[in-house]
Amino acid sequence: MRIFVPKETAPGEERAPVTPETAKKLVALGAEVAVETGIGASIHRSDTEYKSTGASVLDDRMAGLREADIVLRLRKPPIEEAAALREGCIHISFLDPFNERDLIEQFAAAKVSAISMEMIPRTSIAQKMDALSSQANLAGYLAVVLAAEELDRIFPMMTTPAGTIQPARVFVIGVGVAGLQAIATAKRLGARVEAFDTRPAVEEQVRSLGARFVKVDLGKTEETEQGYAKALTEEQLAAQREVMAKHCASSDVVITTAQVFGRKAPVIVTTAMVQRMRPGSVVVDLAIETGGNVECAEFDKVVEVNGVRVFGYANMPSRAAIPASEMYSNNIGSLVEHLWNKERSGIVIDPADEFLRGCLITHEGQVVNQIIKKHHNL
Ligand code: NAD
Repeated sequence: MRIFVPKETAPGEERAPVTPETAKKLVALGAEVAVETGIGASIHRSDTEYKSTGASVLDDRMAGLREADIVLRLRKPPIEEAAALREGCIHISFLDPFNERDLIEQFAAAKVSAISMEMIPRTSIAQKMDALSSQANLAGYLAVVLAAEELDRIFPMMTTPAGTIQPARVFVIGVGVAGLQAIATAKRLGARVEAFDTRPAVEEQVRSLGARFVKVDLGKTEETEQGYAKALTEEQLAAQREVMAKHCASSDVVITTAQVFGRKAPVIVTTAMVQRMRPGSVVVDLAIETGGNVECAEFDKVVEVNGVRVFGYANMPSRAAIPASEMYSNNIGSLVEHLWNKERSGIVIDPADEFLRGCLITHEGQVVNQIIKKHHNL
């Protein structure tokens, strides 16, 4: 089967979807692999390195897309590139399927089997294919490094003949993969860390990292089968904001990562709460791509409110493009390996397969994913 990997084209995107190491594994599976010229340039991997794996390097992106049996990429494709794929092509990438109705309809119309990296089940067997986790982990680390650089204080306590410096206070709201990494990174830098999440199971994880869990009496909170938080009611959110306000006011750094799968992120930190923080403090909103947790945060911008800077940078993982690419590439490579059928020397899509039922969005002209179908009323 012919696999084609186009170069990422979104502005500011530094990540590469497939590294030469993964290309080599795909070639070893028996695939005919082609990548687009310059695919690894942003991570300092040359076309020669890709060629040395047995892959070919193509200049003509559209021809690569048109002729491929399998397309691997990182971000969702522009709709015209989805339309160029041939019938039966298997397309694997992030797809943003809850927001991209037209793209999904296009995949169905083109009879493409589209697999969404966001929808890979969060099970132990799928861990090595879990790109949401691999990228969120880096985002959590990078948010803390950004805050440490931008804050007008230092993170650790320092006792010196010139005086004792108190540690910075970091408050992490939302403790999934990104939040846990943010806590661990802030602790390693010596900050005093507090955290909150609506899922009670998180308390133990926060404590085991040496941070303090902030308690809020929200009554019953729910999780999906996949372990995702369900949205809070308006009353619960109001109760949460009241407690968050106090903790934000006494923090030097607030990092928000709270998301509700398939929905807009909840607004947790209001502008009034930011106004109560000490001038010079830093807020990093990692949920900005799904709408943001901080009312005054702006997409890919820094906003200043009463001397507090609110960072809403998009695509944080791209700031560490090398490990982000290596991890994504391992994720997508493991996915191809998982789906590869040795006898048929290719991927054979079985929409009834339990794993594929989670992440296959379109197949043979139909939208087959029940969650996405229901979400878009298709
Ligand atoms: P996510 O990005 O969807 O959300 C981040 C965090 O925000 C979650 O912990 C969520 O509970 C929290 N949140 C939602 N609303 C909130 C609110 N109002 N206030 C505060 N916090 C709020 O989460 P994620 O990082 O993708 O992880 C989701 C789940 O999947 C977690 O249970 C995680 O442990 C689990 N997971 C399992 C595996 C696996 O087993 N393979 C891998 C990764 C993640």
